[in-house]
Amino acid sequence: MIQNSAAANLEKTMNHPCYNCGASQNARIHLPVAPKCNIQCNYCVRQFDCVNESRPGVVSAVLTPGEAVSRYFEAKKTIPNLTVAGIAGPGDALANFKEVRETLRQIRQRDPDVTFCLSTNGLMLPFYANDLLALGVSHVTVTMNTVDAAAGANIYDHINYLGKTYTGADGAAILLQNQLSGIRYLAEKGVVLKVNIVLLKGINEHQIEDIVRTAKDCGCRITNIMQLIPVSGSKFAHMEPAGNADLNRIRKQSADILPQMYHCKQCRADAVGALENDLSRQFGGKSDDDKA
Ligand code: SF4
Ligand code: SF4
Repeated sequence: MIQNSAAANLEKTMNHPCYNCGASQNARIHLPVAPKCNIQCNYCVRQFDCVNESRPGVVSAVLTPGEAVSRYFEAKKTIPNLTVAGIAGPGDALANFKEVRETLRQIRQRDPDVTFCLSTNGLMLPFYANDLLALGVSHVTVTMNTVDAAAGANIYDHINYLGKTYTGADGAAILLQNQLSGIRYLAEKGVVLKVNIVLLKGINEHQIEDIVRTAKDCGCRITNIMQLIPVSGSKFAHMEPAGNADLNRIRKQSADILPQMYHCKQCRADAVGALENDLSRQFGGKSDDDKA
């Protein structure tokens, strides 16, 4: 029987190194079964190990569900404190839901206690929310960079939604609506929600309070405001990231509204290990030590 009551999910948070900085001794594994994406963020280039990079969207290899299940149980043998299995790309988890479902289903069959965590842009959240509940996904992260469709037009190049491509504010408005309704629904069902926000100078830097407040109103428990990583080949390749002082000031201001994550490592989509002790190399990926 899958336990995904609010109380059971909150208890799992105690052992989740990302949602609880006091759980830094616990490890997580990202299983890279989700290569496709259904939107294009202007800061994103997905890469398959062509360079030594450690950031979201990068993996050494995409795995099939069977391979991912084997990697999880291999990792379990050598990492006794592995408590969390997550899907974090390299594309969007919900744009590859068949593979995600199969992976999580097989792991759950053999490991009823594992904590499942999933990251998404939220476009398909209203469509798959009940499936996530049935799989026992207790922790969901939605990247929501704005609550203003006009600003969204500068952040997202396009979205692909139900067979059509939408650009500009039209696309951003659909994305936002689905993010909010998906977050609200899952929060009501007891899932622990985190909203990730990429801080974009000149685009959303003055909207962070609105985003965090909206996330709170929808039932989200924590926000993670992150620095932009300017990636060569992306539209934002030449955008200057916010400095640490600005980032920390904005995080501190936001902490009056919701708890903040200060320890995110902006990990690869195949990261393995504790946040301070990356073991990806042993499991077919590259570690934080390989950062370019
Ligand atoms: Fe890249 Fe994620 Fe944006 Fe898709 S949703 S384009 S994978 S950052
Ligand atoms: Fe945790 Fe951040 Fe790494 Fe995700 S990217 S596993 S939230 S530290």
